[in-house]
Amino acid sequence: MNVLVINCGSSSLKYQLIDSQTEAVLAKGLCERIGIDGRLVYEKAGCDKEVTEAAMPTHKQAIQLVLDALVNPTTGAIADLTAIDAVGHRVVHGGEKFATSTVLTEEVINVIEECNDLAPLHNPANLIGIRACQELMPNVPMVAVFDTAFHQTMPEIAYMYGLPYEYYEKYSVRRYGFHGTSHSYVSKRAADILGKDYSELKTIVCHLGNGASICAVNCGKSVDTSMGLTPLEGLIMGTRSGDVDPSILDFIAQKENLTLSEVMNVLNKKSGVEGISGVSSDFRDLAAAAKEGNHRAELAIDAFAYRVVKYIGAYAAAMNGVDAICFTAGLGENDAATRAKILANLSYLGIAVDEEANNVRGKEIVISTPDSKVAVLTIPTNEELAICRETVALV
Ligand code: ADP
Repeated sequence: MNVLVINCGSSSLKYQLIDSQTEAVLAKGLCERIGIDGRLVYEKAGCDKEVTEAAMPTHKQAIQLVLDALVNPTTGAIADLTAIDAVGHRVVHGGEKFATSTVLTEEVINVIEECNDLAPLHNPANLIGIRACQELMPNVPMVAVFDTAFHQTMPEIAYMYGLPYEYYEKYSVRRYGFHGTSHSYVSKRAADILGKDYSELKTIVCHLGNGASICAVNCGKSVDTSMGLTPLEGLIMGTRSGDVDPSILDFIAQKENLTLSEVMNVLNKKSGVEGISGVSSDFRDLAAAAKEGNHRAELAIDAFAYRVVKYIGAYAAAMNGVDAICFTAGLGENDAATRAKILANLSYLGIAVDEEANNVRGKEIVISTPDSKVAVLTIPTNEELAICRETVALV
């Protein structure tokens, strides 16, 4: 069965066509600058990446271009569109309505629309992608896979904010968490790699990319995670502040003469390691600047690592122990130096790091020594494959 996985944003769209039997990626790529001018990136397995400037005023036209590329007689990955058996859509926010992936029907789409308020930047774009695919492939079954679903097992004590309860009742204000597809995939892989029973393992997954979150997975269930109502809470990220004293919002609004939404923009787009360093949101740039003696770049990396260390400690406490700690996503998979910095502060857990193994990049590997009390692993995440598997399971 071939599954087209779609991750649709407001002006971009990522796609992968996966053969679910072999789990091989037949083709992948993205559409960029939708509604502006348009660029299609297409890469068939084993071939060079093709980049084409192509007008895509709407998402429907962008998806049409993807489908055209997939069935192109010379460079296409499939003969015709009947070879696409199902479509799996990433949907960011499922609120409290979706604890699992769901086959898309009109009713389901309406409920996703009801969650738009909770993710105004993401859910409407996801829905546009769903609608466009339905119009172009009306008879193909489609599934929504939610970033929030895995965290619906969080207990009330973990998801409730210390706010008037009526805000939860009236507006569903609570912690939801994101990156659920990644946390679920990586924690399951960790159990497989360690040869342990997933339903007995206490795992902490550190998804450290441009957006970053940590999740406590106790016996196969998410019991806490660092992102909240929105992906702004928790760790210091590329450009997001993570946890701050809420009073700062009013303080900065007054000092800088900004509106609340302007301050929110600063917290989302001009903060994090970029805000601290004034250099970049990319850890490779920060490491290079720190090496040249840039104190703020070094501070940004250290403050990021310190926050990760604190969350790991908190989640070990929340689960009354931890068996495995996993690093994933761009930074978690690749940045041995930052991983080492984090792990150096975890010797109290009985963690011992195999330095040679820690220097390996982007591979599934155990980076703790055999006598380490807690296993530490790097596991490349694969959200597309996880979406493909969920889709196959449902259709
Ligand atoms: P997202 O999906 O949230 O955009 P990714 O998971 O792709 O993010 O991670 C991107 C980030 O990973 C980059 O901004 C960079 O900071 C970090 N990163 C990627 N490769 C490396 C590397 N080799 N060394 C250090 N950091 C890296």
